[in-house]
Amino acid sequence: MGFFSWQCKGCDHSIKSPYSLPEGWEYMNEAVLLEPSGSIIMGMYDGYGRIGPGDYEVNWETGDPEMWHKKCWENAGKPEYTGASDSAADQGFFYDDPSSKEMQEALEASE
Ligand SMILES: [Zn+2]
Repeated sequence: MGFFSWQCKGCDHSIKSPYSLPEGWEYMNEAVLLEPSGSIIMGMYDGYGRIGPGDYEVNWETGDPEMWHKKCWENAGKPEYTGASDSAADQGFFYDDPSSKEMQEALEASE
């Protein structure tokens, strides 16, 4: 089974799997899932469609999940569900290390 993920609604990065996370990007592993029903599920993303600690299964086939990094979601004022997130082209794993500009953005996001 391969990795898959979604684009965060707040920034242009994917929800990252916990493996080989670059230093400074740890916050991109912490996800918030908003469902059309209004449910909000938070936790670490396992890279395979589950959010801990309860291994909540993201219903990506029919559930139109909206995904955020927890930090981005909080910085945006904890918005409610607005629509499904795009799936991530990098699958939350196959991405380049952050550039210096992206490291700066990560610092600002985590403040
Ligand atoms: Zn984000």
